[in-house]
Amino acid sequence: MPNLEATWKEASWGGVVYEAGNSVEYITGGWRSFRPIRDMKQCTHCMICWVYCPDSSILVKDGKVVGFDYDHCKGCGICAQECPVNVKEPHEYTGQMGKVIQMVPETEFEGW
Ligand code: SF4
Ligand code: SF4
Repeated sequence: MPNLEATWKEASWGGVVYEAGNSVEYITGGWRSFRPIRDMKQCTHCMICWVYCPDSSILVKDGKVVGFDYDHCKGCGICAQECPVNVKEPHEYTGQMGKVIQMVPETEFEGW
């Protein structure tokens, strides 16, 4: 488990990570400045976002997209860029037309 309270003086030389298989323990979602939000009702479950996400942060169950792993999603926006489906009604969170996945600034996210 990484010590998130460690100072730079306690970091390894060159930032080398010695333990293998530790990526799950690093909560990279803390880097995110934009949050992807999917309109659950208008998603067609085509899985394109799952294919393109570089951080395996699209959660899938029984062949359906069920959400995001916000602990590890870095907010790169690739899923929103690659989603091929445009909403037919305003997006259920943003109220905007456009893609099924839309990026919302973390500072403006109010939960839902
Ligand atoms: S790419 Fe868009 S429509 Fe396809 S599963 Fe992802 S959110 Fe749904
Ligand atoms: S914003 Fe980037 S890291 Fe987050 S779910 Fe979309 S593609 Fe994956």
